[in-house]
Amino acid sequence: MTYDQWKCTDPREYEREECEHENYDIDTIEGRCRCDSCGESWYASEADIQAAIDSEIAYAKYIERIESPWYRFREWCAGHWYSLKRALQPKRKAAALDDDIPF
Ligand SMILES: [Zn+2]
Repeated sequence: MTYDQWKCTDPREYEREECEHENYDIDTIEGRCRCDSCGESWYASEADIQAAIDSEIAYAKYIERIESPWYRFREWCAGHWYSLKRALQPKRKAAALDDDIPF
């Protein structure tokens, strides 16, 4: 690419050439990847599809765990325990201000 060609290229086109497809979504049903930055799509490898399925399962388990009543009860207790600890801590007095200017 000459300088003039580069200069006349739409910046979005130029960036599209440089895209390394770092942010992409995998459609685990069709097995296709689609880049969030440039919109290009390609077929995912078996390992990529399996990794995406594994992460979807892990995310579903995480959501199931944090939405369980027992988890929310523990969070609620932890919040009250923290408030109680704060309330029972002896209050520290503010350091006395020394208004004497040393010079
Ligand atoms: Zn891309």
